[in-house]
Amino acid sequence: MKLIRFGQAHHEKPGVILDDGRRIDVSGFGSDFDEAFFGGDGLQRLAAWVKANAASAPTVDASVRLGPCIARPSKIVCVGLNYSDHAKESGMPIPAEPILFFKATSSLTGPNDELIIPRLSTKTDWEVELAIIIGKKASYVSEAQAMEHVAGYALHNDYSEREWQLERGGQWVKGKSCDSFAPLGPFLATRDEIPNPQNLPLWLTVNGVTRQNSSTAQMIFGVAQLVSYISQFMSLLPGDIISTGTPPGVGLGLKPEPVFLKPGDVVELGIEGLGQSRQVAVAAA
Ligand code: ZN
Repeated sequence: MKLIRFGQAHHEKPGVILDDGRRIDVSGFGSDFDEAFFGGDGLQRLAAWVKANAASAPTVDASVRLGPCIARPSKIVCVGLNYSDHAKESGMPIPAEPILFFKATSSLTGPNDELIIPRLSTKTDWEVELAIIIGKKASYVSEAQAMEHVAGYALHNDYSEREWQLERGGQWVKGKSCDSFAPLGPFLATRDEIPNPQNLPLWLTVNGVTRQNSSTAQMIFGVAQLVSYISQFMSLLPGDIISTGTPPGVGLGLKPEPVFLKPGDVVELGIEGLGQSRQVAVAAA
């Protein structure tokens, strides 16, 4: 099943993309895609509802805006330097265990919304990533049990302000949390749709120039490892997001000199099986 949220920002309604490509409004099911939904066997109940009601459910026109494919979660946990080549281009050692940081949940936005370059930013950068959506509370889970706690996956662009991340002292969170820095979607694909999350091509272009082109096969720590590892330090709640790190080709690592985003730039990205997204950069008001 493919889950979407559509409509005006902060007033999105839940929807589903059917196998034939039709997008339907599932408001009649009675729940947004939030913690209560995922934690209350919502995916199973929704699948049954769709089977019974798809034919009569309203169609969502292709022109309607998509929001982030899940409602605002309790947290967005990110993994740093999880592709060995990206660690190298960043001039950092390959980590012995996952590096974790948070992204403010207020940074979530729709997959095709504008990227707002923050005030005074000069180093806004891109990062295509596979995002995991948690389906069941995970606390101290083993790697063997980890996949049972995964609801599905989505495409994520982990936008980053490199000066604020790396040159302004302390933790990375300042450079990761600006509004619009987490376009998620177009859709959440449930786990059954992605039998092997460790073999997915992923790519990103800026103004049509390919900047990132890799595969999740290159991840240092895989999906099951990450869910298990993070759950040793915190409870992962239904609907939480884990963004699993980015492959090489970010603006910071480009030679002979770094390239950062400016108003008017067009960023497009995709992951096999998880669709594509597109953001046009604009200056903050
Ligand atoms: Zn990242």
